[in-house]
Amino acid sequence: MDNNVIYKCTACGKSFTVTISNARYPSGKKRESIDFPWCGAENGSEVTSGIITTHKVVTEVGVNQ
Ligand SMILES: [Zn+2]
Repeated sequence: MDNNVIYKCTACGKSFTVTISNARYPSGKKRESIDFPWCGAENGSEVTSGIITTHKVVTEVGVNQ
């Protein structure tokens, strides 16, 4: 089961989604940093047993907000 959350970059304000995929590390949790895909800024971190993947959010006209 995946969780999909929309974040806004703390550096430039653009939107991105964060997906946490479970069951990669079933034996324990660790802290994973959330790296913004547009500008590379770190937007905090989560303690999770899964893998954090970030994706750019692009509107229909191709302009990120
Ligand atoms: Zn940014």
